[in-house]
Amino acid sequence: MGESVQRCVRCVLPEGYPGATFDSEGVCTYCRIFENRWKDYRPRNREDEFINLFRRADGNGFQKALVGLSGGKDSCYTLHMMAKYGIPVIAYTYDNGFLSEGARDNIDRFVQRLEHRYVSVGDEVNRQVYRALLKNGCSDFCMPCANGALAQAFELARKENVGFIVWGLSPRTEPILPLEMLNAYDFRFMADAVRSNGATPNLRPFANCGLMKAFYLTFIKRLRIVFLPEYIEWNEDEICRLLQEEYGWVDYGKGKPHFDCVANRAVDYFMYRRLGVSKGAEKLSVMVRCGQLSRSEALEALAREEITEEPRESVDAICERLGLTRDDLAPLLEGSAKDYTQFRSYASLFRALSGVFWLTFKMGFTSESLYQKYRRHTFAPPAETAEAPERQPTVVP
Ligand SMILES: [Zn+2]
Repeated sequence: MGESVQRCVRCVLPEGYPGATFDSEGVCTYCRIFENRWKDYRPRNREDEFINLFRRADGNGFQKALVGLSGGKDSCYTLHMMAKYGIPVIAYTYDNGFLSEGARDNIDRFVQRLEHRYVSVGDEVNRQVYRALLKNGCSDFCMPCANGALAQAFELARKENVGFIVWGLSPRTEPILPLEMLNAYDFRFMADAVRSNGATPNLRPFANCGLMKAFYLTFIKRLRIVFLPEYIEWNEDEICRLLQEEYGWVDYGKGKPHFDCVANRAVDYFMYRRLGVSKGAEKLSVMVRCGQLSRSEALEALAREEITEEPRESVDAICERLGLTRDDLAPLLEGSAKDYTQFRSYASLFRALSGVFWLTFKMGFTSESLYQKYRRHTFAPPAETAEAPERQPTVVP
């Protein structure tokens, strides 16, 4: 990591990070968005509001909720808090085909006292989808994972007749990842990136995440997604300490995020080679904005953790699980992965709908990051030929 890199004076985002410009005070766009959004935030006042969401209309106990469980600290802490509030839950784990042994160990520690299900789009479908993505030069592994996890959560909620899905993440504690890094819930992009060049994986298990289906479930069936960290304090160090003491939870990542996915480090490295910046820089920046790290602590962590060298173990795991060779991945390792500008996508449609996303966010149905992510972008037109169109610059007001 070059020391000459210009960074935001508040967080650690470097110049060149997609969607970030620095103002005259040297503060980045994402810090300004955060400042505007959360300046009046008072987490402790909202715990009752969260609990009351689940209270039955007749006052007789609580409605059941689904809670996502990855084995990481946020999801485990969410289950801990739901138990503390006395709200009944079904925990579910989305197996993306790359779930780590450490994640499974932590899940086992929690599910002994819980109703729990593993959900998945299926091992073979996962394998075909990830193989096709990589073969087509796209390394956005987190997209099928996010889409599959949402689709399968919706399906489980329907089967179990549950009206709430609770997650241990929120726009306050998670980065608003720009489109160059993640296009979650853009099913058109995923389908085109997977099916280019004749691959025909079965995408039906992902169908619930399609735009119309998601709107149907949200507005007609009134399925509500709730982000617990929007309601209560969320200090990662304290959470880790509590989980270790009370549950024997183990931080298999030793402070590094996403140890639950063995592909994560390789995918982050593909991005680092392509953009010269990583998801890690934005995650650490969010922690600075939330007051969980000082800027100098974040800079130290970044120097220690940013994946600037090929993470061989994670790349080997991808090759082994998908039956690919290192040569198959060579373009990605060299930094020439494709993104949404080289495939058909809903990016322009979602941009046009950003006002609707603002409305659905205000009504409490969608996350604010969906709105922020699209309103701040201009888009290159969908590629009509095999030639990659020139990327248009991201425009930030
Ligand atoms: Zn910043």
